[in-house]
Order: sequence, then structure tokens, then C-alpha cells
Amino acid sequence: MQMCMTHWNLLRKAIDDRGLTKYVPNSGEEAVKKVHAGKPDPLMSANLRICQTALESCGSRIMGHCPLCLMDEDNKNHGVDPVSQNWIDGCCDEIQQEYQLSN
Ligand SMILES: [Zn+2]
Repeated sequence: MQMCMTHWNLLRKAIDDRGLTKYVPNSGEEAVKKVHAGKPDPLMSANLRICQTALESCGSRIMGHCPLCLMDEDNKNHGVDPVSQNWIDGCCDEIQQEYQLSN
């Protein structure tokens, strides 16, 4: 599962709005290293959390889809408003708090 460009950009913006971009490594390799070391940067953390929550609510249907697009589509089918921005904001707020506590 991989986030689409639209949602990835929204996520980056949410991280940036919270002043967390300075903790995000410039290269993808560096980001992967941090994940393997158990210390994902804010952007990766947010991505992992969203993917995990989506996996819990959608199961294997999520494979090959953007988790946020899938959630929004599900909600649309049930006549509910899209949740992707709420998810992004909620999870970035959490991460911001954690970073403030640990830095
Ligand atoms: Zn998407």
C-alpha cells in the first residue's frame, strides 16, 4: 500500500504546518534507516500510523491502494464525509506532541 501523491502532499503539509519538517531526513534512504532503527521520522511515523489504522479497518483490501483514498471512498459509499484530512491532522497532532515531549 502506498499513499497517492495528493495525500502524501497533504501529509507533508500537515507535518510542515506543525514545524516538524526539520526532523524529516532529506533522503529516502535515511528515512528507511530510521524506520529500521525503530525511530521513524515524523513523516514516516504519520505514514505508518495511517497505513496501520487503514489495515485494521479495511483489511487486505488496502493492498495496492492509497489507504486514505480507500477510506474516503468507503465513507462516500456510506454517505459519510471524507475522513482523510481528519486522519492526517489527528495523527500529525499526536506526533507533534510526542516530539515536543522528547525534544
Ligand atoms: Zn490518496
